[in-house]
Amino acid sequence: MTDATSTKKRSPRKWLLTQNSDLRRIGVWNWTLPAFVVELPDGSNFNVCPQAGVCAQLCYARVGTYRFKNVRAAHIRNLLLCRDSPEEFEKKMTEELSHRRYEGKWIRLHDSGEFFSDEYLLTWMRIMENSPAVRFYCYTKEISRFKRLVVPSPPANFLWCYSLGGKEDHLIDLGSERHADVFPDIEALISSGYSDQTESDLLSVLGESPLVGIPANRIPMLLKRQGKETFGSLQRARDAKLAAKNSSTKHNLTLVH
Ligand code: SF4
Repeated sequence: MTDATSTKKRSPRKWLLTQNSDLRRIGVWNWTLPAFVVELPDGSNFNVCPQAGVCAQLCYARVGTYRFKNVRAAHIRNLLLCRDSPEEFEKKMTEELSHRRYEGKWIRLHDSGEFFSDEYLLTWMRIMENSPAVRFYCYTKEISRFKRLVVPSPPANFLWCYSLGGKEDHLIDLGSERHADVFPDIEALISSGYSDQTESDLLSVLGESPLVGIPANRIPMLLKRQGKETFGSLQRARDAKLAAKNSSTKHNLTLVH
């Protein structure tokens, strides 16, 4: 006689971490959120990338496969879990990371999305501390949040690379702090003295040079928008324009008073 429970099909385990083909090639797992401002199922909007600057108009995660219905729904599910149920998220993620498939592996946080709040970043830091067999890395535009919460006492298994194109670019010391910029092509990044990370995304945090160059994603619409500029140069131009506008507004107000 067959035991009814043994014939019952087990539903497949739902993993929180995924792999795309590029990351699978280098053995990295990935945690993804939606990019920039998203509309949630209750009709509200939420900005997942509070410090996004020019990058928001050049972001590969806002076009192409990231827009597919099932992909987008999975990313929104991830966001709602970590934003609205942080304790459940921390427990589930810590449990998942204790699985042997992650032992000695790297996890990339956010090929899309960002550390949108202090609480969320602190949650990840606790997850890292409680997952010593796993290593973590990310790019981030949350410069002030990192300098306040991570830099003074980073988890031993966490590396990061600041990335240009955000509202806090001016807080990065480009001469000494590891950072990434997105160039129109490989020739442009090499001639600017940056190191190409195309071979492996891990070079962003493990490469010798702290100047990390990323060739732009080959999406025609984004390439056209970026032109010959880098994310960093476009952001500097935007910052300068804003500063000039603010100083002329101040000047006019002084005249009125
Ligand atoms: S911060 Fe990253 S994910 Fe967010 S809009 Fe900018 S490039 Fe896209």
